Amino acid sequence: MLIGGLQKFSLIDYPNKIAAIVFTQGCYFRCRYCHNPNLVLESNFQNRIDEKDFFSFLETRINKLDAVVITGGEPTIQKDLKEFIKKIKDLNFSVKLDTSGINPNILQDLIESNLLDYIAMDIKAPLEKYKEIIQRDIDTSKISQSINLIMSSNVDYEFRTTLVDKLHIKEDPIKIAKLIKGSKKYILQKFVSNEILDPNLKNYKSFSDDIFNYLQKELLKFIKKVSIR
Ligand code: SF4
Repeated sequence: MLIGGLQKFSLIDYPNKIAAIVFTQGCYFRCRYCHNPNLVLESNFQNRIDEKDFFSFLETRINKLDAVVITGGEPTIQKDLKEFIKKIKDLNFSVKLDTSGINPNILQDLIESNLLDYIAMDIKAPLEKYKEIIQRDIDTSKISQSINLIMSSNVDYEFRTTLVDKLHIKEDPIKIAKLIKGSKKYILQKFVSNEILDPNLKNYKSFSDDIFNYLQKELLKFIKKVSIR
C-alpha cells in the first residue's frame, strides 16, 4: 500500500464512528477542484508511511477507535488493498472505503468478501459530462456498474458530489439523482478553494445557499436522504 498520510482521529468521516483515516497515493482522475493534489500528482507525493508503522499505530488504538477510513487518491488502484483491509478487519475495526467507482470489479470482490462496512462513492458529474470534469478518458459504464453494485449490496453507503459553480450547473445534481434514484443517501458538497489541483480555480465558488436549498428539496423526489456539507 502506498500510504501518503494518516489522520489518527476523526469524528466526522465515518457516520457515528470514531475513525482513523488512511490516505493512499495515486489517482487516475484529474478533477480540477481536487483537494488532495499531494495524493494525485506523483511529482507532489510526500514521504510515505510504512504499512508496518500504520499497523503498529492501529494496534495501540484497539478499543479506542471504532473504524478505519481508507481514502485517497483512489484506494482501489492499490494492488494490495484487499490484504490491507483484511489485516484491519482482523483487528476488529470497521472499514469505510471512499472511492470514485472507477474499479467496479475490485469493489465487487471487496463487497462479496464482506470486507467493507461502509462505502462512500463520489459521483463527479452526469455520465455524459464525466470526461470534462475528471479530465481523463473513462468508460462511464464502470461508474454505472459501481453505483448498481453499491445500491444492491447490503453495505451501508452514501453517494456524494462536490459542486463547483461554472464547472457544474444546477441541473447536474438532478441528473445524478436520477442516476441513483431510490438510493439511501446523497450528499451535496460545497467546493472550497483552498489547496486544489488546478490553481486557476482559486476564485471559483460553489453554488449559492439558495441553490443548495432548492436542490435539496428537488433531490428528495428521487433520494431518501439528501444532505449539504
Ligand atoms: S478529487 Fe478524488 S477522484 Fe478527483 S483527482 Fe482528487 S482524489 Fe482523484
